[in-house]
Amino acid sequence: MIENPPPWPNGARCAVAFSFDVDADSVVHASHGANAVRMPHALAHMRYDPFVATPRLAKMFSEHGVPMTCFVPGWVAETYPAAVEAIVAHGNELGHHGHFHEWPSRQSPAQERESLERGSEALFRLSGKRPRGYRAPYYGLSDSTYDLLVELGLTYDSSLFADDVPILLETARGRLVELPVPASIDDYNQYVSSRAFDYLMKVSPPQQALDVYKAEFDALREFGGLWVACWHPAVSGRPAQALAIRRLIEHMQAQGDVWFATLGEIADHVNALVDAGRWTPRVEKIPFYSRPVIDLPA
Ligand SMILES: [Zn+2]
Repeated sequence: MIENPPPWPNGARCAVAFSFDVDADSVVHASHGANAVRMPHALAHMRYDPFVATPRLAKMFSEHGVPMTCFVPGWVAETYPAAVEAIVAHGNELGHHGHFHEWPSRQSPAQERESLERGSEALFRLSGKRPRGYRAPYYGLSDSTYDLLVELGLTYDSSLFADDVPILLETARGRLVELPVPASIDDYNQYVSSRAFDYLMKVSPPQQALDVYKAEFDALREFGGLWVACWHPAVSGRPAQALAIRRLIEHMQAQGDVWFATLGEIADHVNALVDAGRWTPRVEKIPFYSRPVIDLPA
């Protein structure tokens, strides 16, 4: 069903990366600007992330020997350093997620560059390492994003629902590895019921979300794919939801043939395979189109 899966390390049947977007309340400020400081309910909802959920998840994943990849906006790292230290202390990877969680496609190229530089600098100050991977806030990529990521020396992106295995993005400036996210597994779709975020999903048992994640994983394992969770500590780090994640990890570990890795490790594996001529992934040229396909008035 997957025509050209990559060879995974040590004969593993599939690769699994648990990634979390550690947004904290950056999304409240990014969406509501100056009014955000008068929204204590929404702020408290999202401050649960750095104060409670992220340290809880970092500990839980560490106990299971499974790495996390955490995409953290620069402002979040500066505002909640203890949460980021908890991520790093357990050997997890920090990824780039903008500075204030700005919507890249609503920024000018100069503004987007500034956000990327500030975000990278903030993570470097706290961890001593520059982020190697990026997930676009709101998946809101701009026309300039991939050129900027290459210019700033990033190795991979994980923002596109583009494939079931890694692909390469080829821009005029150079190459990035794309580690695609399955379209169905963002946890907002499963759990969030909040007027402040315009998400009013029906409250359902975590088992129901677990069934979705497990079905995705089982299929990708069957055919040799890459499974990337794209979750949020404020959503999936609450006790019942975290317990569901623990059950999912145990299900995956019981298979005995899964490669658990950070997204950075997976990107390195892909580049090594390509450079050695051992695997040829699909390549997408960026931009997808150089001019409009249908010329309708805007
Ligand atoms: Zn985010």
